[in-house]
Amino acid sequence: MIRLDPGDYIGVIGGGQLGRMMAYSAYELGYRVAVLDPDSDSPLAQIAHRKITAPYGDREAVEELAALSSVITYEFENVSVPELESISRQRPVFPNPRLLSISQNRINEKNMCRRLGLKTANFLWAETYDQRPSLLEFGRFPAIVKTARGGYDGKGQSRVENRVELEEVLGRWPDMPLIIEEFVPYDVEISVVLTRDQQQDIVDFGVMENYHRQGILDVSISPARISEHIRERAISYARQIASDLDLVGTMTVEFFVVGNEVLVNELAPRPHNSGHLTIEAFDYSQFDQHIRAITGLPLGLSGQGRPAAMANLLGDLWLHESLNWKKAMDITHTYLHLYGKAEPRSGRKMGHITALAETPEAAARKVRQAREALTVNPPL
Ligand code: AMP
Repeated sequence: MIRLDPGDYIGVIGGGQLGRMMAYSAYELGYRVAVLDPDSDSPLAQIAHRKITAPYGDREAVEELAALSSVITYEFENVSVPELESISRQRPVFPNPRLLSISQNRINEKNMCRRLGLKTANFLWAETYDQRPSLLEFGRFPAIVKTARGGYDGKGQSRVENRVELEEVLGRWPDMPLIIEEFVPYDVEISVVLTRDQQQDIVDFGVMENYHRQGILDVSISPARISEHIRERAISYARQIASDLDLVGTMTVEFFVVGNEVLVNELAPRPHNSGHLTIEAFDYSQFDQHIRAITGLPLGLSGQGRPAAMANLLGDLWLHESLNWKKAMDITHTYLHLYGKAEPRSGRKMGHITALAETPEAAARKVRQAREALTVNPPL
């Protein structure tokens, strides 16, 4: 087991908002943070003690980060696994590179679920271009074709209604392994965020209910309004995956709920957008627990205080001439987070708002109201 002393460096690969929020938690415990990111003004680079500005694959930069840090973590999935494996010979890397390699590839993810006996949508896959014709045997439509790697926020996937459309889509992404899965007419999407520490203890944050817009998370609500059976099953699936993959740190599993079933959609080996509301709603947030786990501290016993909802603030909002921050923040028990990104592009996550209330419905209403307040009656 590794244990850091106050003042030691945590090295973070990736400088986005997840890294920034990890750093807030690390700072409360007296750790220092170093970041590797090509953008010298990334959300984490703005607040890190040390920033190494270089491409993620830059050998020298990676070695500098490893030399400085007592432990290495990452805040996005597309880190090179061989690179992490080579760092892990020098420094502990959490979550472990094998877990990352599974989560980077939808084929591996789905086969892992199969091995553990966890349900997923029906699927077929093709590793190579030559194997693609076998996907035409998939007789269930509508279906979704996805690149096995590199897709996020709905990118790298295409819905097909019939065989003709499927043939057309199979001509795309020539260099990528592909997976085809049946389109799931789900009732609701949910996620389980949990943290596992080096003593193999697990703390979960219950189940979040998630709503997407154009493939990007829009609103999360906690606790999810689902049956006890679904809740228990989703949490038990997520715990099984975390234990099987020997997780250390925070991880997220996303599911579709269809009737009385939960189907695993995908995993993220890191804190997750749907867990942002844990900052205000739980005793210890997903970021607090992640830092505890990777630094060798015991997890906090984390219960939920009040129901909560989170709404993302995307760059599109910034198309309005001015945003009425005051009006949004006039609403009680709403919490604004902005990530310090200078350039508000469409679809870019610039920040989020969390609201606490007496019920999940009231929290969801309040957080939407707060977000809408940003764009009504802008101040002169
Ligand atoms: P993913 O990148 O796999 O999380 O997909 C992004 C979003 O697309 C999901 O959150 C769902 O809303 C939708 N989606 C993905 N796969 C399926 C599926 N098999 N059936 C229905 N909707 C899907």
